[in-house]
Amino acid sequence: MVGCVVAIHLARGGADVVVLDARAPGRGATGRSAGFLIRGTADHPDQVASAVGREGALALWDYTAGSIDELVGLVREHRIECGLRRDGSLVLAMDDAERGSLRVSRELLEGTREPGEIWTGDEVEQRTGLVLFAGGWFRPGDGVLDPGRLCRGLADVASRLGARVISGVRVDAIDEDGNGVRLTTRHGMIASAQAVLATNAALPMIDARFGRWLSPVRAQMLVTGPSRDAARLSWPVYAHHGYEYWRQEPTGELLFGGCRWAAKPGLECGVTDDACVSETVFEAQRTFIARHLPSLASLPVRARWSGIMAFTTDGLPLVGRVPGQERLWMCAACNGHGLAFGPRSARLLAEAILHATPLPVDFTPARLSSRMTSADSPGGN
Ligand SMILES: Cc1cc2nc3c(=O)[nH]c(=O)nc-3n(C[C@H](O)[C@H](O)[C@H](O)COP(=O)(O)OP(=O)(O)OC[C@H]3O[C@@H](n4cnc5c(N)ncnc54)[C@H](O)[C@@H]3O)c2cc1C
Repeated sequence: MVGCVVAIHLARGGADVVVLDARAPGRGATGRSAGFLIRGTADHPDQVASAVGREGALALWDYTAGSIDELVGLVREHRIECGLRRDGSLVLAMDDAERGSLRVSRELLEGTREPGEIWTGDEVEQRTGLVLFAGGWFRPGDGVLDPGRLCRGLADVASRLGARVISGVRVDAIDEDGNGVRLTTRHGMIASAQAVLATNAALPMIDARFGRWLSPVRAQMLVTGPSRDAARLSWPVYAHHGYEYWRQEPTGELLFGGCRWAAKPGLECGVTDDACVSETVFEAQRTFIARHLPSLASLPVRARWSGIMAFTTDGLPLVGRVPGQERLWMCAACNGHGLAFGPRSARLLAEAILHATPLPVDFTPARLSSRMTSADSPGGN
């Protein structure tokens, strides 16, 4: 997604753009995601406020809300058929402590657009049939879409605007010199004036030293067959500090993700293989569904898959110039909230490249570069 959105804005601005994708649009983390348009970071807003202050938490909330607006705008402007719905999400608390966190978060957002409302555990059960939750936060400004169709649609838009989108070409190395950037691929070398790294968790595979800035974390999903009963659940649900998340298709099929905490001791951190799934995580998912979504527990599982997220230590993305490089940029590590952080970050990056406009200072990769020695600086410059 990020690479295609950068390409769209660069192409609109008149740049000559090539998108190189090792796989194909939608085969990365975006297409494997749950497709939730959920404002904020992976932590509840009150936790964010504890770390960066109230103003900082509100600014991050505002950034992601505006970023989702931009994505919705792109989808509508280009009529991308991806099942977009923006009629809310439900964030659920597993225990009293998390319910308190949701209540304080909701209060923090008083006065913002669509802060939503807090429900008791009983109200959650009455309105949704989901049981054994301590409470909920209904958030009307969130939404959902089919992320695979989104990626393919964005790639088509980029192509229509003049970008060349090339699938099946992996970039193995990038070097910069005074004249530009050289990208090494198995098919040959590509010379370019500038390059944007939008490879998310795969960044360290291009240069191992990026591994000091971001960590790959594997997340896992399943989808069931359709339910004969009409779908009850209208909104995407995000529970237990985001460790579990699910939604129902109009056919009643359940898409469920999470439970990576079951894969002890590493919680799937550092795992980069998205060709298989963890059976331990799968068992934990089945147990969770049986306990909290009992009416859907008997649906047969039709497919399972995993995808690799990229996390940073401060939970914020890496958007800007690669430190020590003039012509190499990056937009990566959206910390499990790529559909929220990605679209605006991608646009701002494209504008910075085209017009030297400023980028969000909190997201600058340079903030983490103190962890690298000068000899470690990516790109070797
Ligand atoms: C199971 C799961 C559920 C998720 N649910 C949500 C959700 O509901 N909402 C949300 O906001 N976020 C969610 N996320 C996180 C979200 O998917 C990511 O933050 C977001 O998709 C990152 O987008 P991206 O474009 O940066 O990366 P990707 O979509 O991973 O794209 C990276 C691209 O780079 C290409 N690539 C990699 N290496 C190379 C190379 N060397 N050369 C050329 N190309 C290369 C890949 O082929 C890929 O196409 C979820 C993630 C997972 C795994």
